[in-house]
Order: sequence, then structure tokens, then C-alpha cells
Amino acid sequence: MTAEEFPIFDAIVIGAGVIGGAIARELAKYNLQVAIVERNLRVAQETSAGNSGVVHGGFDPTPGTVNARLNLLGRHLYETEWFKELNFPHRNCHSIVLAFNDVEKKELDKLYDQGLTNGLKRNELEILTREQCLALEPNLNAKVVAGLLCTSSHSVDPVILTNKLVESALVNGARLFLGNAVTSIAKIADEFRVESTNQHARVETYRARFIINAAGHYADVIAGMIKDKDFSLRTRRGQYRILEKTERYMINDHILFMVPTIHGKGVIVAPMLDGRVLVGPTAEEGVAKEDTRLITIEKFEEVAVIAKKIIPGLRTERTCFVFSGSRSICVETDDFWIAASSKDKRFINVAGIASPGLSSAPAVAREVVGILRSQTELTEKTNFVREVIGDQARG
Ligand SMILES: Cc1cc2nc3c(=O)[nH]c(=O)nc-3n(C[C@H](O)[C@H](O)[C@H](O)COP(=O)(O)OP(=O)(O)OC[C@H]3O[C@@H](n4cnc5c(N)ncnc54)[C@H](O)[C@@H]3O)c2cc1C
Repeated sequence: MTAEEFPIFDAIVIGAGVIGGAIARELAKYNLQVAIVERNLRVAQETSAGNSGVVHGGFDPTPGTVNARLNLLGRHLYETEWFKELNFPHRNCHSIVLAFNDVEKKELDKLYDQGLTNGLKRNELEILTREQCLALEPNLNAKVVAGLLCTSSHSVDPVILTNKLVESALVNGARLFLGNAVTSIAKIADEFRVESTNQHARVETYRARFIINAAGHYADVIAGMIKDKDFSLRTRRGQYRILEKTERYMINDHILFMVPTIHGKGVIVAPMLDGRVLVGPTAEEGVAKEDTRLITIEKFEEVAVIAKKIIPGLRTERTCFVFSGSRSICVETDDFWIAASSKDKRFINVAGIASPGLSSAPAVAREVVGILRSQTELTEKTNFVREVIGDQARG
């Protein structure tokens, strides 16, 4: 094959997690040739499969950060577009952040104010008394002193969602190359030359005008391929246990959180869409990239302790499944890093997409399109198919 015969795309998205999937679908709305290159043989096998599956209302991120802005916009886009168009399991599920002492109660007041600053409406948030908490969730730890109710959170299945995003991109003309680990990127004249190795150790080459780096924990490695050191990443692993459906009766219908500023972000007991109960996650700093989905026996016990703090009567021994995932955190900003590379403005990094990345995904995708639009003319397809019914992309 001569170099000119390698397939050429306007944009190659590296990584088929929820972020890469969302970006590919958004790009497929325009007259662009789009490809997704994914190392695994199935989409959504990394962090996008190892999370709590909550579309957060948006009160938790620090006001003024990129992730506060994109969480709120992202959640609205779920409600106005994705829930209608993408045919994936989801359910509005109110959340309660629980306070067990006066210090934690003060944090609830802060979170309430922060929520309003972030743009939530007053009717989406309410401070609950102890009695109100127990009326809503009678099996809660009786030491609860107050709660913060948020009515605009949702449970979603992030793996099916990612499959649907990719499927939608494919229906609208994008190409998907699974089992292709990107190993090098070079710039030749005006084009990127992307090399990947497939599962048969065969080297594939693609050409592209734009690269979108959505490689999760490996976004720094991909950026390093063009000597970009604009950001660096660290990891924080979270392990979960899933309790059998027999434990579902212990929760009424709320996602129950510990105070994030005190107990670590996102610690929950929550009803799952399939009728089981999700408990976790832990927060383990600095795990190796290849261990980001590892389960350890010692943390298995710790997760049970978390669960019983929230609902003492939960029979955590009735665990039927375990899993983990790790947040990919931008060391420099502790915020999402969505920017054109200082080495090449047509290489766009979408990195450090820790929580609430799932909630923000639709807005992250729009942000990326905005960066592309500032560099090239984008014309919308007149025949973009918004709704997805089938199952094309599932591996
Ligand atoms: C414990 C935990 C709980 C969370 N809970 C929530 C929550 O409830 N709500 C919320 O909003 N967010 C939550 N998040 C955050 C959310 O899960 C992430 O923001 C999101 O999944 C990140 O998606 P991603 O596509 O960037 O990364 P990933 O899903 O990791 O996708 C990156 C993809 O890039 C691929 N890749 C890597 N290197 C290469 C290469 N060389 N070549 C080709 N492909 C490559 C990988 O195989 C992978 O498929 C949570 C995260 C964790 C860890």
C-alpha cells in the first residue's frame, strides 16, 4: 500500500469510552469523515464500564470549574436529547447526600448554595431534616441528622449508552476500528499519520486532519506521541460490590451519598437499573495504569463498611458481582483538560475526564466541536439520523 492509499479521515477519535463515543457522534452531525480507533475489541471496557452510572444534578463540582459548567449543560442535554434519542436504560432517581453530624450538616448547606451557584433551580434541591430523611428511606442509619435531596439526578447504564453513541456515529457514516492500539502519531505535511497495532500484531496506518485524543488513562501517552507535555495524569481507583436483588427492599428509591467533601467523592448505596444494589466506591490513589480495573480482597471488606454506615441492615455478604474503575485526574488543574495541543492545534486533548465525566459527556462533545469549528468550517448534515434503535456496534 502506498502512503496515499491509507484511509484518510477528517478526524480520528482515539478511544471508544463514553467520551470518545460522544465526540464521534457529535462530529458525525457534520459533513466530516470520522473514525474511532479503540484498543479493546469492544467499546466501553475501561473507566466507562467502571463507574456509578449516575448523571449528577450538578451541585457537587466547584463553581467556576470546567467540570461544573459541563456537568450542568451535560445533564440538560441528557434530559432534552440523549434520553429521547439513544434508546438506553435510564431512570430519574433522586439522590440524598446524608449528614451524620453537625460538621457534615454544614457541608450540606454549602453544597446547597454551591448547587444554586452552579445553576441548579431551587426546586431541584432541598435540605431535609432527620425525620424527612427517615420517612423517605426508613432503613437509613438512625444517626442521620440531615440530608440534601436533589431531584435532577438519573441512573444510566454507561456501557449500553456508549454502545449506542458509537452505533449512532456509525449509522451516520463514521468508521470504527476495534482491537487497534495506537502506537505512534507523526505529522507529515498537513496530515497526521496514525499507526496502530491490531490483535493479530498487524500494523494499520490511517491519515487524518484532526486527532481527538480521548484515550482515558492513556491520554498522556497518546499526547506524548507528538511530544505534548501540556498536562499529566494520575489515577484514583474505586472498587464496588453489587449486592443481590434480595437486598433491594432495603432501599426505597434514592441514590444515597455520604458527604463528598468529607468521605471522598461519590460514595454511595444505590438501586441499580437491573434491581440489584450498588455499593462503593473506594478511593485509592496512584494505581498503575494497568491496574485501574483491578479488584483487591482488602478493599472488598472496606466497601462493606461503607455500605453499613449508610444502611446498617444491608447484608453485604450477599455480594453477587464486583468491579472497579479509576478516575483519570489532571495533575495540573484537577479539572477536565479539553484543549488544542500547544504542539499542534489540530491535535485536541480531552483528558482528565474524572467524575462527573459521564454526566458531562454530551457537553464535552460539544466543547470539542467548538474547538474544531474555530479552526475549520463545519457544515451540518441534512440527513443526520438522531434516533438509534438497533444494536449494530455491540461486540
Ligand atoms: C469509581 C468511579 C465512579 C464514577 N462515577 C461517575 C458517576 O456516577 N457519574 C459521572 O458523571 N462520572 C462518573 N465517573 C467518571 C466517568 O466514569 C468517566 O469520566 C468516564 O467514564 C471517562 O470516559 P473516557 O471515555 O474518558 O475514558 P475510558 O472509558 O477509559 O475510555 C478511554 C478509551 O481509550 C482507549 N485507549 C487507551 N489507549 C488507547 C490506544 N493507545 N489506542 C486506542 N485506544 C486506546 C481505552 O481502551 C478506552 O476504551 C466515575 C469514575 C470512576 C472511576
